[in-house]
Parts: sequence; C-alpha cells; structure tokens
Amino acid sequence: MEFTQRAKNIMIAVWFIFVPLGTLLVYINSPTKPTEWENYGYYLLLALLSSVFPFVIAGSTIVLVLWVNVAIFMQFGILAELISMQLCMFPIIYHMKITRETLFKYFFNSSMFFFLSVICGSLIIGLGFEVGSVNIMDVIIFGSLYAISYIFINHIILYGREVICGFKPLFLTKDFYWETACLLMTLPFGLSLYLFEAAIGPIALLLMGIPLMTITVIVRLYSDSEKVNNDLNKASEFGHELAERLTSNEILDIFVERVSNMFPIDSAFIVDNLNGKFIILRAMVDGSMKELEFPHEEIQNSFAGTCYDKGEPTLFNKQVEWVSQKPPFLSTEMQSVMCVPIYRNQKIEGVLVLATKSKFAFEPYQLNIVHLLCSYFAVSLEKARLVREAVAQSEICELTKLFNYRYLDKQIARDMAKMEVGAYQSLSLIMLDIDKFKAVNDTYGHHSGNIILKEFAQLIKSEIGREGTVGRYGGEEFVVILPNYTKLQAMNLAEQLRLKIEQTPFMVELDLADVTREEIIFITASIGVSTAPEDSDEGNSLIRNADRALYIGAKQAGRNRVAEYVKS
Ligand code: GH3
Ligand code: MG
Ligand code: MG
Repeated sequence: MEFTQRAKNIMIAVWFIFVPLGTLLVYINSPTKPTEWENYGYYLLLALLSSVFPFVIAGSTIVLVLWVNVAIFMQFGILAELISMQLCMFPIIYHMKITRETLFKYFFNSSMFFFLSVICGSLIIGLGFEVGSVNIMDVIIFGSLYAISYIFINHIILYGREVICGFKPLFLTKDFYWETACLLMTLPFGLSLYLFEAAIGPIALLLMGIPLMTITVIVRLYSDSEKVNNDLNKASEFGHELAERLTSNEILDIFVERVSNMFPIDSAFIVDNLNGKFIILRAMVDGSMKELEFPHEEIQNSFAGTCYDKGEPTLFNKQVEWVSQKPPFLSTEMQSVMCVPIYRNQKIEGVLVLATKSKFAFEPYQLNIVHLLCSYFAVSLEKARLVREAVAQSEICELTKLFNYRYLDKQIARDMAKMEVGAYQSLSLIMLDIDKFKAVNDTYGHHSGNIILKEFAQLIKSEIGREGTVGRYGGEEFVVILPNYTKLQAMNLAEQLRLKIEQTPFMVELDLADVTREEIIFITASIGVSTAPEDSDEGNSLIRNADRALYIGAKQAGRNRVAEYVKS
C-alpha cells in the first residue's frame, strides 16, 4: 500500500488548514480549561510514559495511551485531552521512524487525533457529561462511550482514507480487534484512575500507573521475543527452501527475493569477490532486479570492502555513519544499512548489503538473522556447485575427455528445439566409426587402442573447432553435431574429416618382451550423415538415420567412405 504524492500532499494540507486554527478555536471556546496545572502535569507525564512503549502483537502496533486520555478528558475537558494526545504523538512518531518521505504520516495522525479529540469530546459533553463529575454511573457510562466512540471513529477515518485513496480495505481488520481488546483491558484502569485521583490526589497516578506500565513493558519484551521467534521461523523455512534449489542462478534469485520480503528493505546487493575482483552478482533496487557494474577499487574502498576484509557484519542506522565509505552501488537516498560477509568453507566469498531509506530501520538481532541466512545461502551455493560438477562429470568420457552419449543426447534435443523455434535453419549430424578397430586392439593391445582413441578424439575436436559439438557416443563411435549445417555442407566437412583421418599417422606403443617400441599406424573411419529437417524431425531419428547411413552406405559399401542418409 503506497500513497500517491497527491494523497500525501492533501494529508499535509489538511493539517495546516485545520489543526493550528482548530486548536486555537478550541482554546477560545472551551468552557473548561486545566486549572490545576500541577495535577495536569502529572497526567501528561503518565500519558507520555504510556506512549513511550508501543508494542507489536500479531503484526498490529498497539500504544496504550487512551486509558490515561479518557481520565484527562473527564477531569479537564476537551482542550486538555487534545494537548495531551498531540504531545503523545512525539514518542509514537519516533517509534514509527518517520523520514522526510513519510513525514505525511505525522501530519495525518496529528490531524486524525485532533478530530478525534474534538468530535468525541463534543459528543460526550453534548450527551450530558459534566467535566469533573465524579458520579460513578456518569463516569462509567460516559467514560466508556468516550473510549468506544474514539476507537470506532478512529477506525472509520482510517478506513475512509483507504477507500478514498483507491485501496480496497477490509472494514474489520486485525488491528481493530486488537485495539478493541486492549481497550477492554485498559478502560477500567482509566476510569478507576480518574475516580481514584479525585479521591486521593495525584498519588493515584503513581499507584495506577506503575502496574499498568509494568504490564506494558512486559508485553513489549514478550512481543520483541515474538518478533525474533517469528523471524527465526521464517529464516529456517527460508533455509529449507534454498537447500532445495540446485542451480546457482535459482539460489541467487530466491535469496534476494526472500531477503527483501523478510526485511523492510529498498535495495539489496550480493557482492562477490571473483579472483580478487569485486563484482555485483545480483542487485535489487526498489523492487526490481538490476545489472550493475562498478570498478573493483571503488567497492574495495567502501564499507563493503572493509566488511569483506574484516569478516564482521556491520549495522548502520543512518547515512552519516557510512557516507564517507559509500559503495558506488548504494544510492544516497538510503539510510539504514546491513552489511554481512558471506562465508564458504571458512573463507569469505563476498558480502551482502541490504539498505533502506528509513533511519534506524534494522535491529541488531536482525543482523544476526541475516548472518545466519548468509550461511544457508553459501552452503546452498556450494551444494549447487557440487551438483553441477557431478552432472558435468557424468557427461564427460573419462578416456577422451569428450562429451559422452548422455550429454550428446541432451545437446541434440536442445539444438532440435532451437531449430524448431527458428534459431537454426538446419541441423546436421555426423557419425564416425573407426574401421576394423577390433583388429587394431588385437594387433597392438588394448592400451594402444586406448591411445589411438584419445588421439582420434583430439583430431576430430581440432578439426571441428567451434563449428559444432564433438562427443564419443560409445566404443569407437564418435558424433559431431553441427547447427546451421545443410546436408551438403555436412557431407563436405565429413569428407574433409575422412581424408584427414586417413592421412594422419597415429603413434602406438608396443610392449615387446622387455623393451617398448613406438610404432606409427594409419587408420580409417566410415562416416554417416543425416540432416534435420529433411531427414528427421526429432533428435532420436537424427542419430538413428546417421547410424543407418554409416552402416549401410559406408561400412557395407567397403568402409573408409562418407554416406548420407537416404529415405528408403
Ligand atoms: P568395423 O569396421 O565393422 O567397425 O569393425 P570394428 O572391429 O571396428 O567393429 P566392432 O564393433 O566389431 O568392434 C569394435 C571394437 O572396438 C571392439 C572393441 O575391442 C573396441 N573398443 C571399443 N571400446 C574400446 C575402448 O574403450 N578401448 C579399446 N582399446 N577398444 C575399444
Ligand atoms: Mg563400432
Ligand atoms: Mg568399428
């Protein structure tokens, strides 16, 4: 929920139009004014103290101040309550961490409380309440009516604002229930405070104030630990979610996304140190991902560089604390910043920087939670790297270091898909099978056979270069995938390969009795070619057709030749 600038301006304008002049009018016209200044002072002190400890229950922020203000209204009238409430705004505003952008909140709340004081006070006096009356029934009935109308009208104003601004609010919100529940709990204290004070003087404020303040502080401590608990729960859920991701990109994306949902941040940066150079792996600014690049030195000389060197998480509450070491990626709109090192295997790999435009937005415990998240993050990245390595290994032939059939099958499927969407015009496949290789093994031994396979692999690879993908499909069979090669181009290339193989001397080692001797031998290969889309419309048939061309067109026709697939 974000208010437009126009809505914010209107909220500020309403304050200037109504509040100063309205307060003056109330002052002039109010029939009752505080006369017992000392007593009023004690009441104000109690009201201020009550508003210093707002707490959060189930996401709703509660300030227990109405109970004191009910008593103030009953004893001193509208003006006294109005002043008290406006003064209580300051601790509340401090708690709301108002900045220049959110200053409208002060004006809105101040206007709202001004209207509440005037409307509810006038209503109760209009209904017949006499300020200062200590008639028990009057106190109970009018005091309760005052508090109930206060909460109800307050809620209507908030609801009305959201409707006017085009949001679709719920009428009965969780906040409303909590406020009503807290009122039920504190209203009897407020009414007793008033009666008690009338009977025994200001000492009543102390006697009633201490227990309620104590409860407030306890609830506040409890709500703080609830917050920590809540964040820890979210952190552990987050950890599980990260652990399920297997690719680094997924992990980076989900990390930035979840961290920005968990904390009130406006920007997030993952700064990585790759071979001694700082780079920005991910950047999220005002809710959208950005690609950023900055000189290594500028990052090194900022607090991000210091955090990387020292390995200590750092919390800044406002801009003046970091602006002298500003990293180039951080906007000067930012205020609160958390900077946390990312460790992997006891070594710092990078830093995470989270920032927001509000001052004092983060609490120290949140820094620890981010630190914990960073270790989940690093572990998940490490796991993704191991998975990546394992997959790569399972797709490589140990002997020749070429891709194996697993990789080739996937690559053919990928290239076919690209051809289908028009990225390639055609896709050709060359399959090679060394002729009479069994005989080579039989003559020179299996070890020599292996050396030839290795040399053969290197030969094909260097001939093809970056034109296509080369792999060992099995035994002494090799495959070359050639994107954007027509049948004719592939046939020419195959012929070139065949000639090159035929002319290339292969070196083998012969183990004879106790001496080893090197010998040069020549080999040949038979080659089959098929091309999509003309021969085949899917990866499997592209391979099958090349294989058929190889056996029927090349092997059966006498070996050491190239054959294309022909539909039968
Ligand atoms: P053709 O011209 O019909 O292809 O004859 P060939 O002997 O090459 O064909 P065949 O399929 O009968 O035999 C293939 C041989 O390749 C059998 C096996 O000894 C050899 N071979 C397969 N894999 C390897 C390997 O990893 N190392 C070695 N040294 N030999 C292998
Ligand atoms: Mg074979
Ligand atoms: Mg063979």
